[in-house]
Amino acid sequence: MNILVIGSGGREHALCWKIAQSPLVDTLYCAPGNGGIADVAACVPLDAKDFDAVISFCREMAIDFVVVGPEDPLVAGLVDALTEADILAFGPTAGAAQLEGSKGFTKDVCAKYDIPTAAYGRFKSAADAKAYVEKQGAPIVVKADGLAAGKGVILAQTVEEAFAAIDDIFGGAFGDAGAEVVVEEFLTGEEASFFVLCDGQNTLALATAQDHKAVGEGDTGPNTGGMGAYSPAPVMTDDMCDRVMNEIINPTVKAMADMGHPFRGVFFAGLMITAEGPKLIEYNVRFGDPECQVLMSRMKSDFVPLLLASAKGELDDCTVEWRDDVALTVVMATKGYPGSYQKGDEISGIKAAERKTGATVFHAGTKLEEGILVANGGRVLNVTALGATVTEAQKTAYEAVDTVNWPGGFCRRDIGWRAVEREKAQ
Ligand code: AMP
Repeated sequence: MNILVIGSGGREHALCWKIAQSPLVDTLYCAPGNGGIADVAACVPLDAKDFDAVISFCREMAIDFVVVGPEDPLVAGLVDALTEADILAFGPTAGAAQLEGSKGFTKDVCAKYDIPTAAYGRFKSAADAKAYVEKQGAPIVVKADGLAAGKGVILAQTVEEAFAAIDDIFGGAFGDAGAEVVVEEFLTGEEASFFVLCDGQNTLALATAQDHKAVGEGDTGPNTGGMGAYSPAPVMTDDMCDRVMNEIINPTVKAMADMGHPFRGVFFAGLMITAEGPKLIEYNVRFGDPECQVLMSRMKSDFVPLLLASAKGELDDCTVEWRDDVALTVVMATKGYPGSYQKGDEISGIKAAERKTGATVFHAGTKLEEGILVANGGRVLNVTALGATVTEAQKTAYEAVDTVNWPGGFCRRDIGWRAVEREKAQ
């Protein structure tokens, strides 16, 4: 079959890399793709926001199946448009994508279906939001309701900080995403992500991961799209996974079906493992980036039949196999990120790094300029390694990082630190 993947990040490189290994695939396309994706798929300059152009391309190239990577086209309704045009697509409809597209929507689902999450209030005015903050006290969390590329969450240590965040959001700092504000209880514990495939009714639990959002070592400094990740997350024991399925995932799947938005595609719960048990922080209606890179590296099964089963409502008999190895990915970013940075520096030594260490380097923001690979974004490379332990995977990943020649790049040197400390203590 001919498959089109939508997206251009490290997540989509990992998806394309995995999908390209399937014997079911004739031709794999990626729109728009990037400098690394070009190794495994034909990159096409399509704009995912232009649904008509995507549909025309699918007809012209006899695309049998479209896999949508990022959240923006999902929330905007690309899967709805493809389905209407009779083109099979993987991912949720716009209605189901509200699980990520509106934090208030998800909090209301939690309240109605008794899903454990932080106590919260939804507000359309700054005065009401501030009154709630005053009543609850700090620390407290202030969130823009809509999609804000991971930046619309402010962990306020004081009431004044919370007030400033409320003013910023209602003042337009996040555009339309800030038309409503969610204020919620500050949860403490260890975070983990739990990934699930769903076909509207049936679920297939995939795997767990932990990511590092902060730019600096020791999880300090401003938040980013993610500086690294590893899978599985040791905090997610079998017992904890069962609790998450029963207390959080299953009620959500039922809620979405009850509301007329059955969820098809992949979603993941961002969890806080608190002293009282797992609590939902948020849902994402697609793979995490860079968590996808570690999941694809660990997955032994052919992924294409599972993606198809999710899209067709046929997940009931499906199983998935994983390598015993741990996978860990280190994000190499352009110096300056997540602030301002310069694009266009040449990068070399990637293939040498892969050959020397056995790591896989997924490209997140690169492009080929007259045959030369250059940095083309904030997060640029995802250096991904397998190992029997997190310590081993981390060692291999950093060996590969050190073989890549890119003076304009940087990375955190402590990805996986929690798990490495746990392993040392054992
Ligand atoms: P979100 O975009 O909702 O995942 O939030 C981004 C990050 O903010 C999460 O990964 C958490 O580290 C943190 N966070 C969000 N909500 C809370 C909360 N209620 N309590 C503590 N930390 C939170």
